[in-house]
Amino acid sequence: MDSVRSADLHSKALRLMPGGVSSPVRAFLAVNGTPRYITQGKGPRLKDVDGMEYIDFCGSFGPLILGHAHPVVVDAVKMAAAKGMSFGAPGEDELALAEHIVHLHPAVERVRFVNSGTEAVMSALRVARAWTGRDLILKFDGCYHGHSDALLVKAGSGLATFGISSSRGITAGTVKDSAVLPLDDEERMRSFFEERGENLAAAVIEAVPANNGLLLQRIRFLKTLERLCRKHGAAFIVDEVITGFRLGLGGASERFGLKPDIVTLGKIIGGGLPVGAYGGRNECMSLVSPEGPVYQAGTLSGNPIAMAAGRATLEILLKTKPYLRLEKATTQFARRIKEAAEAAGLSAVVPSIASMFWLLLQDGSAPRSANGIEKEAASSFARLHDAALQHGVYFPPSAFEVEFLSTVHDQDVLDEAIEGLSGAFREVANHNGR
Ligand SMILES: *Cc1c(COP(=O)(O)O)cnc(C)c1O
Repeated sequence: MDSVRSADLHSKALRLMPGGVSSPVRAFLAVNGTPRYITQGKGPRLKDVDGMEYIDFCGSFGPLILGHAHPVVVDAVKMAAAKGMSFGAPGEDELALAEHIVHLHPAVERVRFVNSGTEAVMSALRVARAWTGRDLILKFDGCYHGHSDALLVKAGSGLATFGISSSRGITAGTVKDSAVLPLDDEERMRSFFEERGENLAAAVIEAVPANNGLLLQRIRFLKTLERLCRKHGAAFIVDEVITGFRLGLGGASERFGLKPDIVTLGKIIGGGLPVGAYGGRNECMSLVSPEGPVYQAGTLSGNPIAMAAGRATLEILLKTKPYLRLEKATTQFARRIKEAAEAAGLSAVVPSIASMFWLLLQDGSAPRSANGIEKEAASSFARLHDAALQHGVYFPPSAFEVEFLSTVHDQDVLDEAIEGLSGAFREVANHNGR
């Protein structure tokens, strides 16, 4: 049962790449574990180099709403690849994908494709600054918007007006131009806008914060932000990199009735290939080069294979409209996980929305801001994560990542997962009791 080959490969990788990985969470440091080297994904399942099989709730951290290797998406990718990898020229799949996004997303009048969510948000901020002629950016503690400099700034000890970077290598100037507020606090938001609203280029938020656990917000809070942005002439940016085509065809904007000036997309719109996009009001998008003065470009942007995968994915979602069914299954699954944890004597909070949920091993109700998460929850999750792997369930390797269902996580698969998780919860409870 030991992950001998994965461990071997990882020790070699550590000599070649920082942390042995291409993205930090994958190193399994947050769960004190060994990253599994995955050889194959099929439907809801993963296989690793040691021959272990897992039911996957990581879903590549969000893109895989159709599960692994959906045959229609695979065919689209194969056909596109056979015709050439990249042309540096526009293509029909790109146009079709743009058309779907513009038709389906209520906030997008025109769209520009990039290669990642990070790029999408970084470019959206540039457009917002050009649109308003201002520098200051507002973000919220507990929201992740990719790793561009301006967005790696966090609030220090409750002083929202003086941002402190949560990464080294960020200039003082960047920190000065970024402000951070706590989620779920209209009072703080109002006084911030009174003080600095006239300097604000944009506020950016995940309408469903899903990168620091799942911190479900009150719609009132989101609407207050939108209203204050309008009032003070700042761009209202909703980061829909996770929620776009996950909460429904119109994303979080449609679900909550928000009218952002700019939205950012990624993950699902690439069907598992590297794609991001930003789009919004014509007034904003007309500023983008070559129509306007905001430069933004990409050698591989609108890559034909990625566009084919994204197009196929959206067309399946459009045709099958799986959202109601997915949400029902997820709500029920989240409830069963909570019951299984409690049956083993553990406290668990399992908030969910659409086809994502979060397992938080603590008492009480689901937190709405980053400071509602207890320290011990992360170490309990680390033990659970390892036990779950032993029982054939693959959760993302951090207490602060959310879990995803796909359209191929059917009732049998979910029953099997509950059985595995029940065993894992009992092991963790035994360990705690010792
Ligand atoms: C994943 C994510 C990003 C970053 O996207 P990458 O493709 O990883 O660069 C940005 N914002 C949100 C809300 C995300 O979930």
